[in-house]
Amino acid sequence: MEQNKKLSQISGVPNAVVDVLIVGGGPAGSSAAYQLAQAGFQVLVIDREAFPRQKTCGGGLTPKTIKRLPFSLAPVIERRLNRLEVTQNLSKRHLLPESGLLCAMVQRHTFDAYLLEKALEQGATFEVAGDIVEIEQTPDAVLVAFKSGRILSSKWLIAADGAKSTVRRMLHPQKVVKQAFGLEGKTPLPKGKHTISFDFFAVPWGYGWVFPKGDHANVGICTFNRTIKVSKNQLLDYCQAKLGHQQLTGIEGHPLGIGLGNGPKALGRVLFVGDAAGTVEPLLGEGIHNAILSGQMAAKALNSASTPWLVRRLYDWNMRAHALEALSCFNMHALFYRMPRLGYWWLTRPFMLKGLAHGFTRGLPLDAIVRRVLLTGSVRQPKRRIVASSSEVISLKPALVEAPANNRQ
Ligand SMILES: Cc1cc2nc3c(=O)[nH]c(=O)nc-3n(C[C@H](O)[C@H](O)[C@H](O)COP(=O)(O)OP(=O)(O)OC[C@H]3O[C@@H](n4cnc5c(N)ncnc54)[C@H](O)[C@@H]3O)c2cc1C
Repeated sequence: MEQNKKLSQISGVPNAVVDVLIVGGGPAGSSAAYQLAQAGFQVLVIDREAFPRQKTCGGGLTPKTIKRLPFSLAPVIERRLNRLEVTQNLSKRHLLPESGLLCAMVQRHTFDAYLLEKALEQGATFEVAGDIVEIEQTPDAVLVAFKSGRILSSKWLIAADGAKSTVRRMLHPQKVVKQAFGLEGKTPLPKGKHTISFDFFAVPWGYGWVFPKGDHANVGICTFNRTIKVSKNQLLDYCQAKLGHQQLTGIEGHPLGIGLGNGPKALGRVLFVGDAAGTVEPLLGEGIHNAILSGQMAAKALNSASTPWLVRRLYDWNMRAHALEALSCFNMHALFYRMPRLGYWWLTRPFMLKGLAHGFTRGLPLDAIVRRVLLTGSVRQPKRRIVASSSEVISLKPALVEAPANNRQ
């Protein structure tokens, strides 16, 4: 790259090569790519990893997440669960008996590759890209320079590069998204009826979980207080206390991006989505739904306007209800985790657990759930089943695993 020159002054930099460059092929990036490609935009998704790739995650999908996608997720769902148990640090157990789908379980490497493949079917393209070293916005384009010397140009950029977002750090160093932190690993499937477990306060300001999948269970701990460190040993201790053994493999930790509403979700021609925008719900750390939603809302804004100012306003507007919900969850999170005994007592009041479990997973706003439970003692259940069953097997397209020769480093 020519020294001390702005990207836009370097000769040979093409004008917008694509309409939309999406950095990050996770649920947020793929959902945006799907909608935009379907609407006729030229979309390039880049990721630093080839797909399928691992992503540290519990892989729990709520019914609202399944409903949000315009295609069936049956090929990647390993188990559907309708039993929930909660404890306060492994005591005071409450079991919510079977009553409708609460969570479907996927593994992120297959789920994310499936979403990306759906976006490619709509016409988006995918490349494995090296490290981004510089981003510059001109009045008409966004220029992205890579370590390899390559420069990409697009009319719009969607930053979907997760909780550690490089794009956000480069463009918005002062507006770092708040982060929670989780650790997870694989363990043999526990015996007995398959149940989703949340063990609140198994770690300070957080919880431990067990999510049964097809042939194993996912066990993890997460804390919403970044001043508290959670360690591999704490996860092993939790596994021992919960399941009576420490057989855990593939332990990985990763931050979760929370704090939507803290600062702009867009800057010039760049829109931030998913964890890069802090869209993780701060009460339990559910992030996939909001990643998909924000990707779709960014796509909707780009599809409805053509000037940066209007696109930014529309994206903000599309996300407003969600930002308010994030604020309610954040306030509830502060009360719940700050006062464990009171918080757990409140959660396990008659109807509250059931109301929250079914309302929250179906997308009812938190304050509406609490109001309904307090006023009527229940949250009505939708009658329709959301997921159809199927045993299709996915085979991945070469486009997901091959990097173009000029882009490898
Ligand atoms: C331990 C743990 C458990 C979780 N469990 C759940 C759960 O059960 N249910 C749930 O709903 N949510 C869960 N979450 C949250 C969920 O994983 C995230 O909210 C979700 O993955 C966010 O999606 P995303 O598309 O924004 O980002 P990601 O899924 O993180 O995708 C970002 C993509 O960007 C790529 N990337 C990063 N940097 C660059 C770069 N510089 N250049 C190019 N590409 C880049 C990455 O390779 C990645 O593919 C959990 C999170 C953690 C850490």
